[in-house]
Amino acid sequence: MQIEKLTIKNYRNYASAEVKLGGGVNLFIGNNAQGKTNLLESVYLASVGRSARTPRWQELIKWGENEALVRVTVRKEVGRDEVEVRLDKEKRVAINGLPITRIGELMGVVKTVLFSPDELKIVKDGPGERRRFMDIALCQLSKAYFYALTRYNKILAQRNKLLKGNPTDEAIEVWDMQLAKEGARVVKTRRGFVNRLSPIAEEVHSDITGTEKLFLSYEGIEGIDVGEIESNFLKALEKSRERDKAFAVTHIGPQRDDIKVTADGVDLRSFGSQGQQRSASLSLKLAEMELLKETSGEYPVLLLDDVLSELDNYRQTKLLSHITAYQTIITGTSVPDDVREKLGSVTEFYVEAGKVINN
Ligand code: ATP
Ligand code: MG
Repeated sequence: MQIEKLTIKNYRNYASAEVKLGGGVNLFIGNNAQGKTNLLESVYLASVGRSARTPRWQELIKWGENEALVRVTVRKEVGRDEVEVRLDKEKRVAINGLPITRIGELMGVVKTVLFSPDELKIVKDGPGERRRFMDIALCQLSKAYFYALTRYNKILAQRNKLLKGNPTDEAIEVWDMQLAKEGARVVKTRRGFVNRLSPIAEEVHSDITGTEKLFLSYEGIEGIDVGEIESNFLKALEKSRERDKAFAVTHIGPQRDDIKVTADGVDLRSFGSQGQQRSASLSLKLAEMELLKETSGEYPVLLLDDVLSELDNYRQTKLLSHITAYQTIITGTSVPDDVREKLGSVTEFYVEAGKVINN
């Protein structure tokens, strides 16, 4: 899919901007603090309904204003969609002019993969970042997953609240059954995702490193189908009950799961060098693009925020050789001549003080 047009009003440091994007590589160049990341953030907001930088959407409204607007028009294999996000007293989303009542309806309409310096740390960082990586990809692929995850998190919050109040075992068991039922769906879907991602990531990674054999596996409750995961989950909850009561928190479940990332059998999360971890993160992101394409039939839009300057020459070249296949929005303070050569034809914009100038 391709984003044709982005319109924003009173968004962060922008009073108003309208950008017509090209189908291939789009470059947004500008000095620090001019609004490059804000622009990508607005696209991401129209894609997954939230900012990657803050959970508080109120911060996105331009200071001193009451209402912000983001509108994205996307062209797909068949037809076009328009997503509009309005932020005032509340966050309101409309698709093709029709307001949606559940944010899940937005998932997958504008598919994006965000790659920023933070994402270069997904292998090095804690499990929370890797769960977020899976969840954002999966929510865009499946509304059913988004709703299952939302329900799971609600049940989990209620169980944790209950644990704080000295509950009876019977009361806990009621929540355990619901938790295991929703949790099993989440685990099953995530494991399927990781299993499919692994061979794609292996291929990308061998191209990036030349030698390393990457392997991914899901670390969570075992089971071949939802039923088996559910019953294993229930058993684990029962086993953990006393501990859960003592700490008033649920120790078992998808909220604790992780992706194991190994290269030639070595766990990169704890034993990878910085460079190995960064390369593996890059492979994971590029593999995510391919998997989303395989599953949904279309490439998502790749959002590259300030990543090129973070990579050495070799990895830069490898990354750039992949992105010619899809629409990419790249931000940076400058583009060295050698990078420009590798990019070929680009649509270029200059960003200054909340204004976008088409070069
Ligand atoms: P860098 O190259 O340093 O990453 P950038 O061009 O990506 O810079 P942005 O992160 O887009 O910069 O931020 C641009 C400016 O927007 C910042 O100086 C910030 O103070 C300002 N800003 C952030 N939120 C708001 C807001 N709600 N209203 C007005 N301005 C804001
Ligand atoms: Mg920035």
